[in-house]
Parts: sequence; structure tokens; C-alpha cells
Amino acid sequence: MRVDLHTHSTASDGALSPRELLAQASAAGVDMLAITDHDSVAGYQAVVAHQPPGMRLISGTEISCYWASLCVHVVGLGIDVDAPVLVAGLAAQRAARAERAVSIATRLAKAGFADTLTGAQRIAGDAAIGRLHFAAHLVEVGAAKDYTTAFKKYLGTGKPGDVKSAWIDMPEAIDWITQAGGAAVLAHPAKYKLTQRKLEQLVRDFAAAGGHALEVVSGAQAPGLTDRLGRLAARHGLRASSGSDFHHPGQPWAALGTQPPLPASCQPVWQDWG
Ligand code: AMP
Ligand code: MN
Ligand code: MN
Ligand code: MN
Repeated sequence: MRVDLHTHSTASDGALSPRELLAQASAAGVDMLAITDHDSVAGYQAVVAHQPPGMRLISGTEISCYWASLCVHVVGLGIDVDAPVLVAGLAAQRAARAERAVSIATRLAKAGFADTLTGAQRIAGDAAIGRLHFAAHLVEVGAAKDYTTAFKKYLGTGKPGDVKSAWIDMPEAIDWITQAGGAAVLAHPAKYKLTQRKLEQLVRDFAAAGGHALEVVSGAQAPGLTDRLGRLAARHGLRASSGSDFHHPGQPWAALGTQPPLPASCQPVWQDWG
């Protein structure tokens, strides 16, 4: 079975509309797909009534939150997208995104780029605005040759557009997801660039706060890393998830439906879904 439980559409910072995303995932042979837009369930809602035959669509979202001062991402899977606590919480997160966008534009103006907010907002459309929309705008105006460069120069850690945001703390994100009947998954654990010891601490805190699963496979990662994360999940009694973190065709880290399988020793998060 091909499973992809972490993808983005134009409801956040993905390039494909929810309909296009569903079609491309289906063409790539994905049997089970979750649309997990940043702080939004609009992508999932747009296609829940248009599922291609033979594919199972799972509701989802990816919530930005803080573990101490580090921003981490918690994916919620199989959530009731109408659960009041989640609906209200995600709306507050999107309001924080809008406020942060103003700060990012102010900081970028000081770095010599006037009025990036208009450009980023136009690219975002109705979506929850994010740094990737600023990256796309900076590429459009020729300030960077690609997204990676835009992050390296202007939006990544310690750069002008790296602005502290009013995200919630990790336990609250886990709580919203759990109250909405979903499974809370700690996303892309290797992306936080933590030492083994710090990562162990993060995963321990995540499990203690009621977290359900670890994203043991994120994109096209090396087999050694997958095995290491599989053991980490097992040590903390967590189930395992797998997702591409797809944003746009041709992205460097993984195409739809091409992740390696989970280690055989893992308990897949979908095993409880009947
Ligand atoms: P935000 O949630 O608005 O803070 O933006 C985070 C998003 O920016 C991630 O989900 C990615 O889509 C994108 N992103 C972060 N770092 C990079 C990078 N180095 N290259 C390309 N995209 C990135
Ligand atoms: Mn993103
Ligand atoms: Mn993420
Ligand atoms: Mn993501």
C-alpha cells in the first residue's frame, strides 16, 4: 500500500489546488492520502466530496508550535474538521500568520525590499500566508534564484524574515488534535537539526503530552535515518507515520508516493483506522 500522510495544497503553501493534488497523487499510485495544510483544513474540505475511486482521503492539518523556543510542526490526522476547539485554534494560528507577515514585510523593507507584503499576499490568495509565499515573491522580483536561496538569504533562521510568531506551545497543538479525535504526529523530526540527545528529549516531551506518532519517514530520506527514527518511535511507544511533505512538482526532497516503506518493526499510525 502506498501511503502519503503529509502534503500541501494551495490552501497553504502548496502549488497545486486540492483537486490537482488529489489527481496527481492518484496518478502516482497513492492509496491513502492526507492533505495537511499549514494551520488549515480548507484543502481537505475542498475535495472531501470528490475522492477518486480506490483512494482513501484522510483529513489533516500541520500546526506550527513551540517546544521551548524551537518552532516544531505537529501534523493532525483523522481529525473532525468541524471540532470547535480545532476550528477556533486554527483560526487564531492563521491570524498570527497574518500578523507575522506584516512584521516580515517590515523587516524585509529594512533589508531593501519595499512592499513585499502585497506580492506575497497576491501569491497566497485565500491561503494562510507563510514564508514560502514571501520566497516565491522574492524569486519573482529577482532577489533570489530559487526558494532555497530565498530562505538562505532572507527567510531562514537568523535572517531578516525570520520573525518570532505567536504560535501556541506544543502540548496545546496536541490537545486540539486529540480533542478533534485525531492522531497527533511529530512532523519531519530530522528537520529540526537537533543533536540525538535533544531529539530524544523532544520526542519524550511529545509523547508525555499525549502525542501519538512520529513521522518516521519524511520524504526521500536515507535508510539509516529511517531505521534510527523507527527505533526512536518504538522507545517512546509512538506509532509511525510516513509523508512526502509535498509542496510542488519538482521539489528537491520527494515526489508524491515515492517514500521508502516504514521499518517492519514499526506500528503504522493507520493500523488503528479500520
Ligand atoms: P512558515 O510555516 O510560514 O514559517 O514557513 C515554513 C515553510 O517554508 C515550510 O513548510 C516550507 O514549505 C518552507 N520552507 C522552509 N524552509 C525552506 C527552505 N530552506 N527551502 C524551501 N522551502 C522552505
Ligand atoms: Mn510549507
Ligand atoms: Mn513542516
Ligand atoms: Mn509540511
